Amino acid sequence: MPPIIERIAALLAEDTDASVTYAALEARLALEKVCYDRLRQCHDYISHAQLKKWQPRQIVNTLLKEVDQHATQTRTLHISRNPARPGEKPEEQEYVEIGTEVGFDPRIIEKLWNALAKIALHVRLPEHKEDHIPPYGDKEQIRAKVEEVSRELERLSKTTMTFSGIGEEVSFVCECGEKNKRRASLLHQGQQVSCINPNCQHTYIVKIVGQDVGFEADVFSVICHECDTVVHIPRRGLMTLKYDQFGSCFCPNCNQKNFFQWRLLQVRPRMEGEEDAKIDS
Ligand SMILES: [Zn+2]
Ligand SMILES: [Zn+2]
Repeated sequence: MPPIIERIAALLAEDTDASVTYAALEARLALEKVCYDRLRQCHDYISHAQLKKWQPRQIVNTLLKEVDQHATQTRTLHISRNPARPGEKPEEQEYVEIGTEVGFDPRIIEKLWNALAKIALHVRLPEHKEDHIPPYGDKEQIRAKVEEVSRELERLSKTTMTFSGIGEEVSFVCECGEKNKRRASLLHQGQQVSCINPNCQHTYIVKIVGQDVGFEADVFSVICHECDTVVHIPRRGLMTLKYDQFGSCFCPNCNQKNFFQWRLLQVRPRMEGEEDAKIDS
């Protein structure tokens, strides 16, 4: 992180419209990098497919929810010099510092990230025909925001280690063979968890029964029209189909090609004492 902070400082020192704007771009990328770096440390719990779709703001917010609810706090890890002996109180032990993780507030990162774009990186829309659009934003305003971001980056750069969270780990093997691991305490009922393998389309739904955590594949079932075999297709892959578009799959039993289509259906609210009603289009 420090080389980026130095680069930003050098651009601000040049003090031209272009260099200050470029400093804003560098500052924004640096904020994104902080988020991605933290997430990579915890990659066991976040899938690559999910990661790719996210904006830094979502990354930070999801990081908090999925990986570690303590990410906003600054934590320092110490270990005792000697193993604990029976009857000895923890406060009587001598400790060695292992490292510190500086906490970051997702709301602050999000605000800074959006502000940089608004002030420095978006061209203002013309208000009328004669409206002259300057090529750059207000230099002093940009400088002030970039300096604010630099201070935050400086603060975050004090991190010497990252915690990947504490607590029981649960795992499941995806249909593709990939082993996925998660922190049990951070999972909730009905949560969607994508497979960590970036080439895999499978998503699972978290089912919690008492102390047990289960992962149920989120699939669409197609019944082979030749042999009645049920073929499970990962729903995530189907979400890229457009309305009315056809998709197909081969039956693993008889090799028959089966088709399906995204359709808009008319429905009406359920009347009292009535089963779910739907009308085929
Ligand atoms: Zn998989
Ligand atoms: Zn078949």
